[in-house]
Amino acid sequence: MIGIVEKLYRGEFLSDDELRALIETDDKDAAELLRQRADEVRQKHYGKKVFLRGLIEVSSYCKNDCRYCGIRRSNKEAERYRLSREEIMSCCENGYELGFRTFVMQGGEDSFFTDDFLCSVVSEIREKYPDCAITLSLGERSYESYKRLKEAGADRYLLRHEAADPKLYEKLHPAEMSLRNRKDCLFHLKELGYQVGSGFMVGAPYQTTDSLLYDIRFLQSLQPQMIGIGPFVPHHNTEFADTEGGTLQLTLRLLGILRLLFPKVLLPATTALGTIAPNGRELGLMTGCNVVMPNLSPVKVRKKYDLYDNKICTGEEAAECRGCLERRITSAGYEIVSERGDCCR
Ligand code: SAM
Repeated sequence: MIGIVEKLYRGEFLSDDELRALIETDDKDAAELLRQRADEVRQKHYGKKVFLRGLIEVSSYCKNDCRYCGIRRSNKEAERYRLSREEIMSCCENGYELGFRTFVMQGGEDSFFTDDFLCSVVSEIREKYPDCAITLSLGERSYESYKRLKEAGADRYLLRHEAADPKLYEKLHPAEMSLRNRKDCLFHLKELGYQVGSGFMVGAPYQTTDSLLYDIRFLQSLQPQMIGIGPFVPHHNTEFADTEGGTLQLTLRLLGILRLLFPKVLLPATTALGTIAPNGRELGLMTGCNVVMPNLSPVKVRKKYDLYDNKICTGEEAAECRGCLERRITSAGYEIVSERGDCCR
């Protein structure tokens, strides 16, 4: 196993069998070597820097019905909200004062957010904060819509492919959603010049090692600037309420593998990772991650953006969230920076 880690570290091609073995290994020495090598590679390209993304959860309305998600359309218990233009602008203002230089507007697929509305909000942020990156994460939209949003000033788009294994994708999503369309969206975003983030959940229901191989191979073909992975965490109002969630060890192993396969990629230590283990994000940072995404949403809506159970950081003001993360990052030996944090390619 050690030999496979070193081969990966040297940038050599790994066969499906080698990747499978590494994903499945319970060899502790190999896991520790993978962690060290991942940290070495992240430090070679990014030093000790950790980039901040201020997450603004703009809407909990969603027209989709992803079977694992707490804000899926058919969850009648979900509390719905959407932020007004003024609320979004005030999150940015607060975030800017706290040193954030990237704002991420994320939400369910909410038809209230028309191109006209979004373009005018994006232009306003672009005008007020010319030194900041604007990231959108609003699901699948048309080529034309992505084009208009780019022209209005958006720089980046996050759209996890969720599951590149067609059989798994079908099991996790309703018939009206398609993996083909999701992949097309990602390639459209790249073509339009967005910095693109994709990714998947670790330990999703029905996921196998072969599904993870599909994910890795798809990411190699897409070559995104950012890869967001986090454990699947069950939500009590979904059919997967009693299903086991993704584990810390498998998520860390995959983070290490991804850092070595994509040396310069932006890799967030996700909130879901911090949800399944108290020091999950710190361990993520020590295993190749270089991004954290603190919450900038108004406290009154945070509990309503309820994607999975026990989500952390739903009770604090943005300043508290930032302070808490700064302490965690410093304790893990890294350093928060107040920069846009573009991919170093
Ligand atoms: N609507 C946008 C989209 O589809 O990309 C953005 C919002 S969506 C809720 C954000 C991400 O939450 C998804 O990409 C999914 O991977 C993650 N997510 C949803 N339910 C989850 C769960 N139960 N556990 C972990 N992550 C989950």
